[in-house]
Amino acid sequence: MIFTHDTELTLRAACVLINSNRVDGEQLGDTRALDDYLDGFGWTGRRDRDAAELASVQQLRERLGRIWASAGDEERVVGQVNALLADTDAAPWLTRHPEMPEWHLHLASIHDPLWQRMGAEMAMALADLIRGGELRRLKICAAPDCDAALFDLSRNRSRMFCDTGNCGNRQHVAAYRERRSKDG
Ligand SMILES: [Zn+2]
Ligand SMILES: [Zn+2]
Repeated sequence: MIFTHDTELTLRAACVLINSNRVDGEQLGDTRALDDYLDGFGWTGRRDRDAAELASVQQLRERLGRIWASAGDEERVVGQVNALLADTDAAPWLTRHPEMPEWHLHLASIHDPLWQRMGAEMAMALADLIRGGELRRLKICAAPDCDAALFDLSRNRSRMFCDTGNCGNRQHVAAYRERRSKDG
């Protein structure tokens, strides 16, 4: 494992959130879909299950997408992450609970609004990445018709394609066809 388990899990969750409207249309269009997403990643704490909460998480999604897109510019990402830490009133404390029995940081009170808790934890995980000099692991899929975010956990940071839209395979097939048509 390259990062602590909570950093890795949180960045995976951020990636899935960003991609929730980039691969197959809007997959986070109602509170039930949001519930499924949250349960899938074991998010705990307050849930309002109303339109305002959903909209705030969708806003966070766009903000995270902009951070991913700037990953080549470290100074810029540092500014974005600092702003997110400030806007979410991040305040770290150690905890563990049945969903995550190992000690890990929570960055906000369980009573804070959902987007604020999610945003604070994601900002902290991004801070971890920056401190480790690993920002380049945040990528946008290299397939020409895909803008999915990916979190490259490969040893040599060599991943180019997302794993959401089968893009790697499609690119192989396209390259193969191109070679064939040149040969023929
Ligand atoms: Zn937790
Ligand atoms: Zn892709």
